[in-house]
Amino acid sequence: MIDLHTHSIFSDGELIPSELARRAKVRGYSALAITDHGDHSNFDFIIPRLVRVCVKLADAIGIAMIPGIELTHVPPDCIADLAAECRHAGAGIIIVHGETVVEPVAAGTNRAAVSAPIDILAHPGLITGQEAIKAATNGISLEITTRKGHSLTNGHVARIAQETGAPLILNTDSHAPGDLVDYDMARKVALGAGLTDAAFEGMLRNSQALVKKALGK
Ligand SMILES: [Zn+2]
Ligand SMILES: [Zn+2]
Repeated sequence: MIDLHTHSIFSDGELIPSELARRAKVRGYSALAITDHGDHSNFDFIIPRLVRVCVKLADAIGIAMIPGIELTHVPPDCIADLAAECRHAGAGIIIVHGETVVEPVAAGTNRAAVSAPIDILAHPGLITGQEAIKAATNGISLEITTRKGHSLTNGHVARIAQETGAPLILNTDSHAPGDLVDYDMARKVALGAGLTDAAFEGMLRNSQALVKKALGK
């Protein structure tokens, strides 16, 4: 299992990175990104700390660890510049908190995200075909999520991605230990979104490719 969207105490997660990584290892993960909620106030606090702990944990517990950030409720016009600053600060995975139907995320967030230097547009809600085409052009993955609430539109996201060729990725958006899932549960969520086993395997390959890119391998 590879999971490129999780939260620690550096935002609203319950666990410090070391426990999150240990629990992921026990769940059979081979790679984990920690992507706490960030904006202009805290990205320069979060990212260097995640960089430091991810280097230590990767060596010590033997899974790929990627420091990241989830730009969350950042005004759409500010997303691209802030993403570039986060990359410069050392973020290996940059996510934008997309227009989930269960929060008042600003309209225009999906559109800004798919043109910004990011890796994943998380829980993009009722994303449009045009936005998905732009994501495909820019190599930005659209997220199928196991998280309650955000997952309400998984079926729509899966369909739009398949119609437009936008890459898909499956993440947990874990905030607590019980949110981590194993391979079997991840597969069930993918099939539940209307995807085939082949498409699920394609998502896993996409995750592996993002890990390699993030780690510069
Ligand atoms: Zn989010
Ligand atoms: Zn999240």
